[in-house]
Amino acid sequence: PRDTVDVVIVGSGGAGFSAAISATDSGAKVILIEKEPVIGGNAKLAAGGMNAAWTDQQKAKDIKDSPESMYKDTMKGGRNLNDPALVEILTSHSKASVDWMTKMGADLNDVGRMGGASANRAHRPTGGAGVGAHVVQVLYDNAVKRDIDLRMNTRGIEVLKDDDGKVKGILVKGMYKGYYWVKADAVVLATGGFAKNNDRVASLDPKLKGFISTNQPGAVGDGLDVAQNAGGALKDMQYIQAHPTLSVKGGVMVTEAVRGNGAILVNREGKRFVNEITTRDKASAAILGQTGKSAFLIFDDSVRKSLSKINKYIGLGVAPTADSLVKLGKMEGIDGKALTETVARYNSLVASGKDTDFERPNLPRALNEGNYYAIEVTPGVHHTMGGVMIDTKAEVVNAKKQVIPGLYGAGEVTGGVHGANRLGGNAISDIVTFGRLAGEEAAKYSKKN
Ligand code: ADP
Repeated sequence: PRDTVDVVIVGSGGAGFSAAISATDSGAKVILIEKEPVIGGNAKLAAGGMNAAWTDQQKAKDIKDSPESMYKDTMKGGRNLNDPALVEILTSHSKASVDWMTKMGADLNDVGRMGGASANRAHRPTGGAGVGAHVVQVLYDNAVKRDIDLRMNTRGIEVLKDDDGKVKGILVKGMYKGYYWVKADAVVLATGGFAKNNDRVASLDPKLKGFISTNQPGAVGDGLDVAQNAGGALKDMQYIQAHPTLSVKGGVMVTEAVRGNGAILVNREGKRFVNEITTRDKASAAILGQTGKSAFLIFDDSVRKSLSKINKYIGLGVAPTADSLVKLGKMEGIDGKALTETVARYNSLVASGKDTDFERPNLPRALNEGNYYAIEVTPGVHHTMGGVMIDTKAEVVNAKKQVIPGLYGAGEVTGGVHGANRLGGNAISDIVTFGRLAGEEAAKYSKKN
């Protein structure tokens, strides 16, 4: 029958699509449901990159890196509150995940630096275009190729179980069909996070009350309730990440890669105040400490040319430009004289190869080419680290760490991979690696049941 399959996957972001494809390739028949009228979730908005170590792409560029180094950076970034076993999977599978995506047609040849990383390991399309949109497009094309049954406007409501507590599918609500039961031996929850739900966010972290969010409208966390009602335990819910650089003018998120590629952050007084590529929590706190609770990303044409994404910001009108720093300062209300001195000082640090002012670990280029740009930025809620507890097979577990037979979780809906703070570039890595793992494991499980 139409509504009976081996594995049903809830959510069409990167985790959901990865799970659907890998379950299909493992021999399972699947249905993928999505409550919104569009695919891709937050995954398609991701701009920074896909973190991975020991990849062919890194080798081609002579970048020295290792899964151990990625492991250490991820744990440190997460304030060591991450689940080490999950981080081990994230990092040791990262190359395989990049290869998997590449084999399916992705271009992940550009490798850049993101905050908290001790090597260039954020993989993205040539020219630096948005990695999330590309990854989602490749996954979607591959789902279509496999004739995967994708049902839009269909919300997962409640996991259904038999008397032994084994998953038997999920009650869904289709926009036109109403409520019906999709029968399956395994359910993969890939419903993303809840950053767009400010009531829920503020109830867990009152400091974030009223913050704007970078997320798509579906990121309200109803999947967490589905998991919890099915017996899944939630963990780390209080860890909610503000992305340090949301454009004040347009509300768009400005990727960390702008800083990674060389932009500096200055305040209204025209002064630098932080290592620009520190972790997101520290950068956010530093920006909120400045006059007007905002700061400016300052860069030149050499940075613009290094990252095609920047043309988008210019196109959106959020990156005013001028041929001198004094003019730029006048336009944006920044002390232009101080700004000129700050940039000159920064350029001398670049020339010396060491940032003795703020210990910024990478100094990719001096800012002295062509026009200058300023993007005013402030932090917004970006990612929710907490979520459903899973084990190393992506099985959802209860508070006693007992597996709920047939229930799997992957991506932002889960907690544990990122600890208290997620590093930029680790989300795409997470959703591909754990989505793929959940799909494989769910397919295997459904064969036995
Ligand atoms: P991830 O990055 O973990 O893949 P995303 O935010 O990219 O997460 O994708 C999650 C997707 O799941 C979104 O498209 C969202 O609309 C969808 N979703 C959330 N809750 C439900 C639900 N209850 N039923 C169906 N789809 C859901």
